[in-house]
Amino acid sequence: MLHTVAAFDRLGEENAFAVLARATALAAQGKDIINLGIGQPDFKTPSHIVEAAIKALKDGHHGYTPATGLLATREAVVRRTLAMTGVEVSPENVMILPGGKPTMYAAIIMFGEPGAEIMYPDPGFPIYRSMIEFTGATPVPIPIREKNGFAFSAEETLALITSKTRLVILNSPANPTGGVTPKAEIDRLVKGLEKHPDVAIMSDEIYDVMTYDGEKHTSLLKYPEIRDRLIVLNGWSKTWAMTGWRMGWSIWPNGEKGGNLYDKVRKLAVNCWSCVNAPSQFAGIAAIDGPQDEVEKMMKAFDNRRRIVVEGLNDLPGVSCITPKGAFYAFPNVSKTGWKAKKLASELLDGAGVALIGGPDFGILGEGYIRLSYANSEENILRALERMKLFLESNRQG
Ligand code: PLP
Repeated sequence: MLHTVAAFDRLGEENAFAVLARATALAAQGKDIINLGIGQPDFKTPSHIVEAAIKALKDGHHGYTPATGLLATREAVVRRTLAMTGVEVSPENVMILPGGKPTMYAAIIMFGEPGAEIMYPDPGFPIYRSMIEFTGATPVPIPIREKNGFAFSAEETLALITSKTRLVILNSPANPTGGVTPKAEIDRLVKGLEKHPDVAIMSDEIYDVMTYDGEKHTSLLKYPEIRDRLIVLNGWSKTWAMTGWRMGWSIWPNGEKGGNLYDKVRKLAVNCWSCVNAPSQFAGIAAIDGPQDEVEKMMKAFDNRRRIVVEGLNDLPGVSCITPKGAFYAFPNVSKTGWKAKKLASELLDGAGVALIGGPDFGILGEGYIRLSYANSEENILRALERMKLFLESNRQG
């Protein structure tokens, strides 16, 4: 018998991948499946970005790079950060990693161990809790409520901090809810956090450009009072439709005052993945510095689909959906359909050919909700809504 460490038995899953695999298997059997399950843009990576990677390979950029990433790529991130937030960071704060997830991994294993508490949004991206449990730390859910427009509440968050809290994870615009936390709420949270100088913060801002109706994303970088304990997660996956490139960045405190976090993550990279593949790092520069018209086109399409999805969902029996202000997800309340959310999601896949995710896959407070990703064509979204309507009308529960 092999003896692996218990931590691996505590690792969770991201059910979006399991649903994708099941939807693909059903499609392979000839079933017509509409996939509203996976969180990746249905757009192609803009061609000038692809060309930059091809050129990099042809120019011979296929070796190791520094573990923190190429200076030119980190400088591009500095320019992008300034343009988005008005805040000037140094390339010595910027880490290039293979996707957004490795920042989560690094931050959580840096602070998590038995006896420590780490706070994370619920419902929220499932990997936060999974990784916290992996470290043996106690996961402390921050409730994310529909009545608050799925924004986090500063008051509720601050009330959960104890002497054991090491790290608070925040995410806005948010997966799976599409919630965007308003600046006033973030102001209040930061003010409260000043009373807890030993608590680190990881702000997942991977959907930062994806806001609607004039709603503005507020980066935690805008608060100098917490900069020496703030990690900001970001990346190329969503904004430039680059999920498969595995390109992410994060901004870390550097130096003794900031707990030498940057040096710690650099060392982790040296030990785990050495560096991100070189051609992708050149593509990353082209993404930031090149034309943004494709991104704008994608955002217009998401905005149109968002309206269609919300209107269609509110027309389904027993379903209500508030209008999401960010990302590309809708998180309708299905509690009045009489179905348990996960059961409904699996029946919709098997019975109606619509792949989506049950809310409980994002946390305890996800019960009563399902997540739809509108990263699919308007035509498919309308077909999916029609199928859901038929299904719910002919399969009433309770
Ligand atoms: N953070 C959030 C909130 C996400 O929704 C995702 C992906 O779905 C990630 C991070 C991970 O991004 P990546 O694919 O770049 O690892």
